[in-house]
Amino acid sequence: MRKMQTDKIATEQENSVNWPTAAFLILFHVASVAALFFWSWPAVITAAVLFGVGSMGIGMGWHRLLTHRGYKVPKVVEYFLVFCGALALEGGPIQWATTHRIHHAHTDEKGDPHTPRDGRWWSHVGWILVPPAELLDQTRLERYAPDLISQRFYRLLNRFYYVPLIMLAVGLLAFGGWRVMLWGTFLRVTLGLHATWLVNSATHMWGKRRFSTRDDSRNNWWVALLTFGEGWHNNHHAHPTSARHGLKWYEIDFNWWGIRLLQFMGLARRIKRVRFNRASTAWQLVTGRVKSRRSYEGA
Ligand SMILES: [Zn+2]
Ligand SMILES: [Zn+2]
Repeated sequence: MRKMQTDKIATEQENSVNWPTAAFLILFHVASVAALFFWSWPAVITAAVLFGVGSMGIGMGWHRLLTHRGYKVPKVVEYFLVFCGALALEGGPIQWATTHRIHHAHTDEKGDPHTPRDGRWWSHVGWILVPPAELLDQTRLERYAPDLISQRFYRLLNRFYYVPLIMLAVGLLAFGGWRVMLWGTFLRVTLGLHATWLVNSATHMWGKRRFSTRDDSRNNWWVALLTFGEGWHNNHHAHPTSARHGLKWYEIDFNWWGIRLLQFMGLARRIKRVRFNRASTAWQLVTGRVKSRRSYEGA
């Protein structure tokens, strides 16, 4: 009898709405609508700049660097990119990477936390409001993200992921006023959340498929523009560790340009990227290595 009760409670917990998250999302959406009535140029420019910072932090940092290890940077650069990503308020980096690694392991099949096959609104935001039980399972984190759990910085940020944004909001309020704070925090975060969520929903429903992957992933140009390159999602599912997602010149991928800039500055190395091999007429993953120094006779 007691076991039956425990099972029932467990089932109720599995399907229960995460009310604190729901309340915050409602608050952010209401504040975003209010922001539209109180705009100013400094507020708009601040929001645009911070949208870019958060976007690149998520794309370059949380996604391509932390989750897929598509390239390497010095620790201080890694932490900086991850800190920028934290300003997008997408939860903790360990939780984020775990969820995304589970998505890649079970894409569009049983076990995928956010496939549109379970409903398009489910894949967009439903899975956040009613988190599947496996996402709350601590052992999953240990199984999917041991590389991050072993680092104190990530354990701390995973727990206090909202602190950087609060610090930013206080700073914006102090130096820019409440309009700048409203746009730079609430509206900018809300737009950023929807942009990221579109990668989970839209790019598994609408767009073109270059590679015949076993999932429904698609390359979607407008999601790519909104997310600085994350919308080339079929390319990404075909070659998840590639730091480059936009493979043709017209597939705009700002996050890749950012990684190239880091490489140019001597900060990014061992960059994995997909290249078209003319000889085999196939796209291949190439792991870049630091070129050994040339030595000349007599020098
Ligand atoms: Zn996907
Ligand atoms: Zn991915």
